[in-house]
Amino acid sequence: MSDHEYNVIVIGAGPGGVACAAALAGKGIKILLVEKNDRPGGKSMSFSKNGFTYELWPISGSPTRDNRFSQFTRELGLDLQMIPPPGISGVLYKDNQTGEYKPFTKETGNPTEEQVKEVKRFLGDIRAMQPDEIDKLDDVTFHDFISNYRVPVPFYSQQAMDANITFVEPIDMLAASEVVRTRQDFMRSGAGLYFKGGYGKMAEALAGSVKANGGDVLTNARVEKIEIKDGKVTGVVTAKGTFKAPIVVSNAGIQPTVLKLVGPENFDKDYVEYVRKLQPSVGLMGIRYFLDRPVFDLCTYITYSDDNYINKQRLADLEKGKAPDDLLVFMVVPSVFDPDLAPVGKQCVLASTLCPADAKYPYNDMLWKKLDATINKIWPLVAKHTESKDFYSTGDVSSVSRDHVLPGQGGECIGLGQIVGQCGKHKPSAAAPVKGLFYAGCDAGGYGCGTHHGVDSGIRVSELVLQYKRSL
Ligand SMILES: Cc1cc2nc3c(=O)[nH]c(=O)nc-3n(C[C@H](O)[C@H](O)[C@H](O)COP(=O)(O)OP(=O)(O)OC[C@H]3O[C@@H](n4cnc5c(N)ncnc54)[C@H](O)[C@@H]3O)c2cc1C
Repeated sequence: MSDHEYNVIVIGAGPGGVACAAALAGKGIKILLVEKNDRPGGKSMSFSKNGFTYELWPISGSPTRDNRFSQFTRELGLDLQMIPPPGISGVLYKDNQTGEYKPFTKETGNPTEEQVKEVKRFLGDIRAMQPDEIDKLDDVTFHDFISNYRVPVPFYSQQAMDANITFVEPIDMLAASEVVRTRQDFMRSGAGLYFKGGYGKMAEALAGSVKANGGDVLTNARVEKIEIKDGKVTGVVTAKGTFKAPIVVSNAGIQPTVLKLVGPENFDKDYVEYVRKLQPSVGLMGIRYFLDRPVFDLCTYITYSDDNYINKQRLADLEKGKAPDDLLVFMVVPSVFDPDLAPVGKQCVLASTLCPADAKYPYNDMLWKKLDATINKIWPLVAKHTESKDFYSTGDVSSVSRDHVLPGQGGECIGLGQIVGQCGKHKPSAAAPVKGLFYAGCDAGGYGCGTHHGVDSGIRVSELVLQYKRSL
């Protein structure tokens, strides 16, 4: 094998790509991992600036224990310290009568005895559901599933908010099977997780393990083209040269891979049409605050109301630039997980709200203003102690993740595999209809919440790749 020849090339060092590459390299496969950014991590990479270490936006993983990350730590002997949430999350619900935000508790909304029973029945059913029953929920939205229970309005809103934060999908599009499967993991193993030194340490450690197992990691190297000959993958073209391999795993997103990197001419017309029509998850956009003193005690905060969780109608309103005054807010404070991540006496707070996935969304200014106003209304000390703040959009998400190749796409927070029609038995296949081409990441092959979903896909796709390689 020459320097430019590999067994497998993995495009993209996001959680899915880096997990797939590390799993294969650990099995003695000669890997090239090619990443367009200057570091691994994709949407969950970490940065250091002015004494702060932080992610580009709020990232906290789940489940807390017995997760796919710990599996790697054990199997590959990674130096990766996981930090469970030190304390509870701050979940604040807005009382529409008074306009006040208060912690959400079992008593919120003064539920009747009957409603309390229904909430218990709902949670009990999720906990006890067997895999074959879960599979039957692939075609049921989470909204339709919860509508079978007469739960109180604040509880419904809380479930909708949770669906929005965990999966970044509207409650009436999200597949109930994905929620139940993931919730069972959280009920068993807790929710909330960070990595010592920054969330990006997870991807950095996996990329390090690719190298330690004899693979190559090429950063600042955008793949321009995946080469195909006689219906089979032969390698990739990058700004840093052409590399050969009979197997390519793309973590660049199914739509950019098919429509741009391989080219529609190499696929059946029906497959190209199917790929074009796949709907992305919703996006997140927001603000990074750098504070001159710690304002927050908890690692994660969520604020929501009956008016601002996202369903299909509200997403359509956002597409037209219509939003309520108070927005749903999701925030992570990295230095509460790991105090070494901020200079003593300072704090970085990563805040976000939901928006369309469109990498060219035209109403960013309106949402940034409303997000800033919502945060400052609930925590007036933020404005008082802000030394500087950065604004980020779905365009920024796309620039470190997947390319914008279709209208309304590119800035998706997660991927393609969580809504009814694209989930469970309908999830896009991780094996493309071109020999030797696979997809890893949140579009195909895995399940769960965000980064964990990506890593789960990476591990499962590595098994598909090994099977295919044996058949060559
Ligand atoms: C604002 C925001 C908040 C989030 N919060 C959370 C959270 O709290 N918890 C959580 O678990 N998840 C969270 N996520 C989601 C999580 O980041 C994603 O689910 C996860 O990163 C997806 O992993 P992936 O492997 O599918 O792809 P990505 O992370 O998108 O990685 C894809 C990789 O492919 C590379 N690539 C693309 N095209 C090319 C090319 N042509 N050549 C070379 N490289 C290429 C990209 O540079 C990137 O590194 C959040 C995401 C956002 C945007």
